[in-house]
Amino acid sequence: MNVVSYGGGVQSTALLVLAARGRIDFDTFLMANVGDDSEHPSTLRYVREIAMPYAAANGIALHLLDRTRRDGSPETLWGRLTREGSRSLPIPVRMSNGAPGTRSCTADFKIKVTGKWLKAHGASATSPATLGIGISVDEIQRANSRRQEAHERIVYPLLDLRMRRDDCVRLIADEGLPVPPKSSCFFCPFHRPGTWLDMARDEPSLFARACELEDTLNERRVMLGKDPVFLTRFGTPLRRLFRDDQPTLFSGVDDVDGQCDSGWCFT
Ligand code: SF4
Repeated sequence: MNVVSYGGGVQSTALLVLAARGRIDFDTFLMANVGDDSEHPSTLRYVREIAMPYAAANGIALHLLDRTRRDGSPETLWGRLTREGSRSLPIPVRMSNGAPGTRSCTADFKIKVTGKWLKAHGASATSPATLGIGISVDEIQRANSRRQEAHERIVYPLLDLRMRRDDCVRLIADEGLPVPPKSSCFFCPFHRPGTWLDMARDEPSLFARACELEDTLNERRVMLGKDPVFLTRFGTPLRRLFRDDQPTLFSGVDDVDGQCDSGWCFT
């Protein structure tokens, strides 16, 4: 079984084009959907309106996988974060000193969801699935950074082909497809400041939802007698950092992309 973990971003869309062109041997792409209320809406739009029809036209199966609870009901990351009375803090929120906390979101909403599908379709320790991940040469430090599960054998086709992110962009454009936006949860604490700045300016309602999430998490922290947490590394609430009257305060502060070191987000 040769399957790509599809993130909906530039690198994994390049894998889709390479598969459609027969340059890599993958006929199934799996996107673990953290939730329609959690993944950036532009990514989901791209996946549904561009990637899925393109995959189907090229004989490739692209499945969107939801996380389900034991009783079969769907669970989203936003839902888990905002559930009344929840103490769960699954995303890598930043402490006051800017350091990211531990997280379970990638494991629970991506790795386990994909693994469940693979096992249900025959992957096992004795017959592991080959799982392709879209990490390009310029992000090579993200490869091999998580434990490989018994039912999978992780490979990095873009590294084998020595492809950089720019090469991926060119390949997608050459195929006549629009270049996808960066994929991630819209509230991910790994966003660089420029991403927040763009969101505050161009997608104010989405930005407002991220601010509300930060507020909700901190109301809960106060009740639990714990220190505040933030969605950026600056130790200040989002809504104060990216105010309308300070539109360029953070431009150029940090050009480095957020790091999702398991290699399952931002691909
Ligand atoms: S994008 Fe960020 S918040 Fe979403 S699953 Fe990945 S690490 Fe977690």
